[in-house]
Amino acid sequence: MAIGETFTVRVGTIDVLVTRKRVKNINFRIGSDGIVRMSIPAYVSRAEAERVAQERRAWFEAHLSQVEEHKAERSKTEPQEWRTGEALMVWGKPTPLRVVGANETFVPCELVDGELMIRDGGDRWWRVTAVEQWLERQLSDRINELLPRCVLAISAAPTSLTVRRMKTRWGSCTPSNGRIRMNTALAECPPECTEMVLLHELCHLHVRNHGPEFQALMDLHCPGWRVTQRWLDEHPPRVL
Ligand SMILES: [Zn+2]
Repeated sequence: MAIGETFTVRVGTIDVLVTRKRVKNINFRIGSDGIVRMSIPAYVSRAEAERVAQERRAWFEAHLSQVEEHKAERSKTEPQEWRTGEALMVWGKPTPLRVVGANETFVPCELVDGELMIRDGGDRWWRVTAVEQWLERQLSDRINELLPRCVLAISAAPTSLTVRRMKTRWGSCTPSNGRIRMNTALAECPPECTEMVLLHELCHLHVRNHGPEFQALMDLHCPGWRVTQRWLDEHPPRVL
């Protein structure tokens, strides 16, 4: 049994990477990569290593779920890099990204065969801006399609309608001057969200608060609004 020998032991659904080392006792370690490593002295047989690993199953599972939680926390606070291999939600569907050279495309960002092509212009912020402007255009086009019908239904028209990234709100309306703003992030959500938020903001041109009168208007013009609202509450806009 040579020092440095490695083999894998399966414990439930977990693979344990075992290495024979110059150690006195059996040791376990779980790294931030989620790999379970086990060091064993030269005299411990494979069968014995496997038996000891099986006994640690609950410990592995508990630690691995902690590692997963940390990963999920990190992905919340560390924004994407916008590189090939990552994905962006577009109208509720995961859409792969591909960063290409300036000789391959003229536009900063475009959808080609289900892939979002981003022209490489240098740093992360350049790519963020390219994607953001593309999303703004998608949302503006969609709003332009929806607006005539929604304005007719609600019998109220905004004096201006702008699209911009907002941190916490999906849309906003200032009834005193008739201005409506829609969050760029809506282009990442399922399509029905845009229509619901647009109707919601238009209703504010009649009713300022969210009281029974407002809810009755929404029930009339957007019967599924409560389900869509719940979805939006559970999926806050991502950080750029
Ligand atoms: Zn509101």
